[in-house]
Amino acid sequence: MEKLAIHGGKPARSKPLPPNYPGAVVMGDEEAQAAAHVITSQSPFRYYGPEVNYMVKALEDQMSNDLGIPYVLGVSSCTAGLVVALKALGIGYGDKVIVPANTFIATAGAVVCSNAVPVFVDVDDSLNMDPDDLERVMDDEVKAIIAVPILGNPCDMQRIMKFAEKYNIYVIEDVAQSCGIKNNGRFAGTIGHIGVYSFQMNKIITTGEGGAVVTRSAEIFERAVRYHDQGMFRDKQRFNIHFSDEDHAIVGQNYRMSEITGAVALKQWGKLDEILSSMKRHYNKISQALSSELPGLQFRKVTDPLGDIGSNLGMILPTQDIAEQFTNALNAENINTNILYNGKPIYMVPQLFHQRTADKNNFPYDYPFKHPVKYTEDMCPRAVDLIARTVYLPVSPVLKEQDVEEIIAGIIKVYKGVMGGRG
Ligand SMILES: *Cc1c(COP(=O)(O)O)cnc(C)c1O
Repeated sequence: MEKLAIHGGKPARSKPLPPNYPGAVVMGDEEAQAAAHVITSQSPFRYYGPEVNYMVKALEDQMSNDLGIPYVLGVSSCTAGLVVALKALGIGYGDKVIVPANTFIATAGAVVCSNAVPVFVDVDDSLNMDPDDLERVMDDEVKAIIAVPILGNPCDMQRIMKFAEKYNIYVIEDVAQSCGIKNNGRFAGTIGHIGVYSFQMNKIITTGEGGAVVTRSAEIFERAVRYHDQGMFRDKQRFNIHFSDEDHAIVGQNYRMSEITGAVALKQWGKLDEILSSMKRHYNKISQALSSELPGLQFRKVTDPLGDIGSNLGMILPTQDIAEQFTNALNAENINTNILYNGKPIYMVPQLFHQRTADKNNFPYDYPFKHPVKYTEDMCPRAVDLIARTVYLPVSPVLKEQDVEEIIAGIIKVYKGVMGGRG
């Protein structure tokens, strides 16, 4: 057996993989020029200025066209977009929202910020929301489900939508980690009632900070626009929407996108297809090679392989201990992998677990719910088990063929080394 780098052997790769920022690593002159043009026009605000370029509008129109959905709204972040989405749906104090146990804290945080309370459902072998567990947390205080495709692997939207229809509740898609992902050929984000994208640094395309909200409903869209812009709907004439006149405006916030962000996002959006096809090509090669060479290695289940964008390969190891050895040994080989969220369901972070908010009496958790919301460590046992032993290999769009070969060889070497006599 080859000596592992972690034990002093020669590493599978001589240098680290490209940094895991798919959008940022393909940033270049196009983004620089687009941002510079906004600045030299002295018009960094989307709605007015001496010479507005309408870059946020151009981004929204392009996304609308490419996603096949009528309404798109640029926002300042995905967290902001989730709050806008929840408020657009009329969700607030006294409401519960179903959130998967495996997600970034922002999904649950946005629910609390909207004055509702998250309740958590377990995951299945896809490490996404398990539709079979929805019934367990369902009661008449639940108003929506937030589906979160984790790291490029689609949720089972068909079953989630069916459940939501049965109980007449909303579905929000938090597509932050999975821009470009599809279900049955349709873009995720356009399947539920409202979808939210992120352009933060870690995501598939990036502007550092930024996001977008998408919906088919004119009524939801109008509320989203108003909530994101102090209750105003400034470019109403751009859309043929007349649900509420100014007498019916709602109090909003400022979650607007700047023109600089819009300009950069439009260029990044233009690179999305290339990023996705490159990731998918590498991902297919790596996963095919590993499944034929390592028949014992379990992969994260993929419900819709055509919709999976291939940004990460999830490998499920037999135990948490082996998973930690596996990822540490791979890092020593210069093949960076990771275990998400400290290996724990998101409800285990102290601020959520103890239901601690910035408000008096832990508002909104103080609502006298008919069915009180309590969090316990073991409420989502499969998430507790699986998150801790799932190791993700990020698949960069800028890998070279040699990188791909070295990744395959390195994973085979480390898996055999770590599993050793364990079979
Ligand atoms: C990153 C992320 C967010 C938050 O996105 P921001 O644009 O940073 O606010 C929300 N949900 C998920 C699942 C994420 O991964």
